[in-house]
Amino acid sequence: MKANNRVHAINAVAARLPEAPATSIPADESLKTYGIDVFGEKMIRQYLTKKTAEKLLAVVNDYKPLDASIADEVAEGMKKWALAQGATHFTHWFQPLTGGTAEKHDSFVENVGPGKAIQKFSGKNLIGGEADASSFPSGGLRSTFEARGFTAWDPTSPAFIKRHANGATLCIPTAFCSYTGAALDSKTPLLRSLQALTASTERLMALFHQKKAHVSVTLGAEQEYFLIDRGFYMMRPDLLQTGRTVFGAAPAKHQQLDDHYFGAIRPRVLKFMAEVDQQLWRLGIPAKTRHNEVAPAQFELAPIFEDLNLAVDHNMLIMEVLRRTAERNGLECLLHEKPFRGVNGSGKHCNWSIAYGNRNLLEPGSNPKENAIFLTVLTAIIRAVDLHADILRTTTASAGNDHRLGANEAPPAIISVYLGDQLSAVFQELDTGKATAGGGGRKIKVGVSTLPILPPVTTDRNRTSPFAFTGNKFEFRAPGSSQNCAMPEMVLNTIVAESMDFISGEIAKFKGDFNVCLQKLLQRLIRAHKRVIFSGDGYSAEWPAEAARRGLPNLPDTMAAIAPLKDKANQELFAKYGVLAPQEMESRWEIAQEDYHRRLRIEGSVALEIARSMVRPVVADEFSKLATALSVAAKDGFKVGRTGLKALALKLGAGLDDLHVKCEKLDKSLAKGSHQEQIEAMNALRHTVDALEYLVDDSRWPLPKYREMLFIY
Ligand code: ADP
Ligand code: MG
Repeated sequence: MKANNRVHAINAVAARLPEAPATSIPADESLKTYGIDVFGEKMIRQYLTKKTAEKLLAVVNDYKPLDASIADEVAEGMKKWALAQGATHFTHWFQPLTGGTAEKHDSFVENVGPGKAIQKFSGKNLIGGEADASSFPSGGLRSTFEARGFTAWDPTSPAFIKRHANGATLCIPTAFCSYTGAALDSKTPLLRSLQALTASTERLMALFHQKKAHVSVTLGAEQEYFLIDRGFYMMRPDLLQTGRTVFGAAPAKHQQLDDHYFGAIRPRVLKFMAEVDQQLWRLGIPAKTRHNEVAPAQFELAPIFEDLNLAVDHNMLIMEVLRRTAERNGLECLLHEKPFRGVNGSGKHCNWSIAYGNRNLLEPGSNPKENAIFLTVLTAIIRAVDLHADILRTTTASAGNDHRLGANEAPPAIISVYLGDQLSAVFQELDTGKATAGGGGRKIKVGVSTLPILPPVTTDRNRTSPFAFTGNKFEFRAPGSSQNCAMPEMVLNTIVAESMDFISGEIAKFKGDFNVCLQKLLQRLIRAHKRVIFSGDGYSAEWPAEAARRGLPNLPDTMAAIAPLKDKANQELFAKYGVLAPQEMESRWEIAQEDYHRRLRIEGSVALEIARSMVRPVVADEFSKLATALSVAAKDGFKVGRTGLKALALKLGAGLDDLHVKCEKLDKSLAKGSHQEQIEAMNALRHTVDALEYLVDDSRWPLPKYREMLFIY
């Protein structure tokens, strides 16, 4: 009987004894294994000749172009290292437009005569690969007669070892392109955008007479996730197939008491987290922070920020390690943006900044010149976000994130910039030319010594803002937890590159005193773009109206949010910066809308199946038992119980009818309704099923309940 399965799952959790705390693991063990699974600088020096190692490291550290003649030696060294790690296979590891990662394993085996084999890995194997692209989404970029796709080695992200119970695989991060060179992945445009932003930053810095230095764009991605017991997960076809619960009545207690956030971490979860950290450290991923999040059973992992391209790869690996480690611990890691209705969803806060040499350009400096640069870069970013809020919003669009954005727990779908009181005051002074208390009470002049030395900015945390300045970086909070950060970061890089170039163009036209001209320029730009700055409560009902008055775009759902990909001006911008050609933009629209509609259909079909084949039989059975009992009670002339039986039978009967009507409606909308009609039909069905969950005999309810999944683990 189904009910027993739920009880079994509960009992299995209840019977788990927490493991005794380890007493014997030396704390420095984790340092000894740090980076042991990556072909990083240490291994490069160990396995390659000095000359080749230097050449490769110049590519890795200084983005020097790759000298293809070293490929054979690098491949040989990499193979030796990989074999020593127990690897039998290698794979080009890439990020197709499915949003996940892809790998196709080839063994090192080459046969050299009957019954004889050697293990080989050539420069050719390392540098490029051919992958049948026909089953990856291409959004029309790859015509079906040209199914070939190519993977190309990205030497700036180190090769790594993925281990499994029976060996290991050498993974080589690669870009993935079509025969014609169109980007079929997320990495390629990201790398292109980095090139664009690097060039624009160098140009701007030259105009400030800064010595040439290395530009590095950095990302620290905070990853939120849920953990539930795998026993429950296995009994939820909706979680298994869609990553979220399409039904589930609200439990009496969920997150009202705020008692989960930053609470003591349960031993079972801590054991899981420790295992995750150990594996990430082995992969050279600097996992730093772990804590309980707001919703019950919700957690967060944050690594230390790294170079953007590497940090994106690392986030993809973090998601994979979380999932795999959860399984090993009898848990399931849910990365969906909104696995449970009524409690907070999960995001991926993308912390981004630009460094020039050793200096973070988003950190106020220690002298007026540095402050002038800081304010100029900040102005460039504000301008970029104001002009391109639409396409920035696009990068967070997904069926999953639709449930989260604007749900009074996550930033709204309206993109605005939060600066904090102190910086807002500084910009206000720039704007009005008048001193305010917040800015230190002095009139702001850019680049001259009367400019107050900006203290380290202490920003207050405004969790309701999608794009917040947090002291020395911007935190983009709208991206969803399951997303690849490459797309949002690629767009951010590109629009900021454009904005910096615009400012550089203006600076080049300066006549007269540089500081006076700069002050005027920044003032003009702030006046033009200050509408995007918002310090208030992004959850409030007034904000959408206020945002509309300011003319800020509000793109509430996926279909609206992806439309900017088709916008001519956007297409021209991305083409100009060599990041995405118009066809590549179109293809991303194509893929996004297809993905959205497919996911909706799957959710609808799963909901219908559960409602008809799991919920309805239980309700019908209980109703008919009641009806029989009622007629028996009536025949035997019972004086008591009949009122109660009848009331319940009526409720269940009405629920049963309702269930029938709502199922038919959903069925119809799946066959030929609009996506809006389908969403409405699913919501209506959910309303009915969730109401029945409160009515039906608990021991017979077929689906694990919220109060179980979110609390019993
Ligand atoms: P919060 O207050 O949001 O928790 P933290 O200081 O914990 O902020 O940082 C959150 C994330 O931001 C971490 O991954 C951190 O490494 C990253 N971060 C810090 N400085 C930078 C930076 N300059 N560029 C990019 N990410 C950064
Ligand atoms: Mg944060």
